[in-house]
Amino acid sequence: MIFNLNKQKQDNHTLEYDFAIIGGGPAGLTLANKLSDSNLRIFVAEGGDKQFSAESSKVYQGKVYGDPYYDLRHPD
Ligand SMILES: Cc1cc2nc3c(=O)[nH]c(=O)nc-3n(C[C@H](O)[C@H](O)[C@H](O)COP(=O)(O)OP(=O)(O)OC[C@H]3O[C@@H](n4cnc5c(N)ncnc54)[C@H](O)[C@@H]3O)c2cc1C
Repeated sequence: MIFNLNKQKQDNHTLEYDFAIIGGGPAGLTLANKLSDSNLRIFVAEGGDKQFSAESSKVYQGKVYGDPYYDLRHPD
């Protein structure tokens, strides 16, 4: 089940999981896949939205230190 935590209010029961994975990149999804055979209730939180928006891009805000690099989030 996929739901948008910014748009839907979830009651406490809906948000009871045994394991929370923050980020659906290769590491997060590999872990989720490994745990899928267990009886654990797994929650994967992924940033962004189905379509780009400035609001959904806010989770990527951050500073890059050291070598020059692109901004971490798309400019508004
Ligand atoms: C320009 C570039 C090119 C690359 N090319 C290659 C390549 O050709 N081959 C290769 O093997 N590797 C490549 N890499 C490296 C590869 O992308 C990384 O090693 C890999 O993505 C790391 O996986 P990860 O799951 O640790 O992190 P990520 O892939 O960064 O996954 C983190 C996830 O967390 C999510 N997230 C971030 N903040 C939040 C939040 N606050 N709440 C919820 N979710 C959040 C992000 O949306 C993302 O999906 C490249 C990297 C870059 C930057």
